[in-house]
Amino acid sequence: MSAPVRDSQTAALIAVEDAHLAHNYHPLPVVITRGEGAWVTDVEGKRYLDLLSAYSALNFGHSHPAILAAARDQLDRLTLTSRAYHNDRLAPFAQALADLAGKDMVLPMNTGAEAVETGIKVARAWGYRVKGIAPDAATVVVAHGNFHGRTTTIVGFSDDPDAREGFGPFAPGFVHVPFGDAAALAAAIDENTAAVLLEPIQGEAGVVIPPEGYLREVRQITRERGVLMIADEIQSGLGRVGTTFACDREQVVPDVYLLGKALGGGILPLSAVVADADVLGVIRPGEHGSTFGGNPLAAAVGLQVVEMLASGEFQTRAAALGQHLETKLAEFAGRGVTAVRVAGLWAGIDIDPARGTGREVAERLLARGVLVKDTHGQTIRIAPPLVVRATELDWALEQLRVVLAG
Ligand SMILES: *Cc1c(COP(=O)(O)O)cnc(C)c1O
Repeated sequence: MSAPVRDSQTAALIAVEDAHLAHNYHPLPVVITRGEGAWVTDVEGKRYLDLLSAYSALNFGHSHPAILAAARDQLDRLTLTSRAYHNDRLAPFAQALADLAGKDMVLPMNTGAEAVETGIKVARAWGYRVKGIAPDAATVVVAHGNFHGRTTTIVGFSDDPDAREGFGPFAPGFVHVPFGDAAALAAAIDENTAAVLLEPIQGEAGVVIPPEGYLREVRQITRERGVLMIADEIQSGLGRVGTTFACDREQVVPDVYLLGKALGGGILPLSAVVADADVLGVIRPGEHGSTFGGNPLAAAVGLQVVEMLASGEFQTRAAALGQHLETKLAEFAGRGVTAVRVAGLWAGIDIDPARGTGREVAERLLARGVLVKDTHGQTIRIAPPLVVRATELDWALEQLRVVLAG
């Protein structure tokens, strides 16, 4: 199943995992023990450039000193209160995140899937209480090829058979449209539509970028038809594409942002729903919550992350490095690569089947000290930490060139 592992300590740990860990992942055969910036070290002392960044949860790199300092300081003071009480970290975090997004309010949760579930609840409650949709009739329009997480409701509106099969019955109330087709989206909206839920760029699908102008059209259609636009920016947001949000690429402001991954600074799970008071205000005490949501440790880390993003420095860096990456990747066209999609420091690279599968390319890159992840068979995705250097990217792409030539 896995590629041959190189040494005994790695093999021994993987064997224990195989016996005692559910097989819900198929990791590359490397056991990581340390990380700093864009680099990680395995149990044998070998170093790798991390071009995945935990699916963009590590936008600021491993062990960012300012984020670690915020976490350590908070660890010594207070870690958890539950929302039965107030804690002194939550107000500054909520205010800073709302400011960053240009919205009024924040509803903090933990994982991305919880933010999506929360967004769906908010949209339905808004549909009944504000829009006046008949009880239990509200629908949410979603896109083909979507990835919004792994809960039963969310996989129920995925169209990936691996995500769905064996896990039904699923919750009703979701309507599918092709991603990138504004006319189809307009046609799918009726009086029961509470919201449109989209990734502005589809990450798991292979960094699929909609046609220029699509997000602006979705914004216009949803505004005119009285439907919420919910942008799942869990992977695309927080600097990845060279702007704070991927919606910024088209100067679009959705009604609701769903955030996660990098919001937790690569240290802990932290997600949030961010919207104006006329939307998030529909949720009343007792209707929604989470024991860990908004805990002071996560809020302290999240505040640090938001302060780093507020400077704009990471967005600028991602934009410049993304330009560099796009130029370099263009040289791969026809050289073992059939298509490349780049948005900021984020790329989907479709591998020519004659040169192997995405998984095989990822394994060959691993052997040369570069970590990437395959998706949907022939695609590899790269999402380096935004702290990576141009020279490091160049080195990694040289490894890709060698791997595709061999
Ligand atoms: C990763 C991801 C999620 C789910 O986040 P988890 O923290 O893994 O639950 C949701 N939406 C998008 C777009 C994602 O990339």
